[in-house]
Amino acid sequence: MKTCKDCYHYVFVGDGKNGKGEATKVGNCFRYPPGLTAEGSAYPIVGCNERQCGEFLPKTAGIKKRLR
Ligand code: SF4
Repeated sequence: MKTCKDCYHYVFVGDGKNGKGEATKVGNCFRYPPGLTAEGSAYPIVGCNERQCGEFLPKTAGIKKRLR
């Protein structure tokens, strides 16, 4: 199954936790602009092996698909 780590928008960050509190590798999702947080703004943190969302774009996608 493809997950966030296979997505063009994903950039690895390091160790973190998933929604169940289990240790996993995490990264940022750069699909959309950063959101506001108490400290300022940040891109969403996503677990690299969890799932994919509806905005998933394969890293191997051609430039035409990236510019859609
Ligand atoms: S949340 Fe969606 S768009 Fe973001 S890295 Fe994961 S699959 Fe890609």
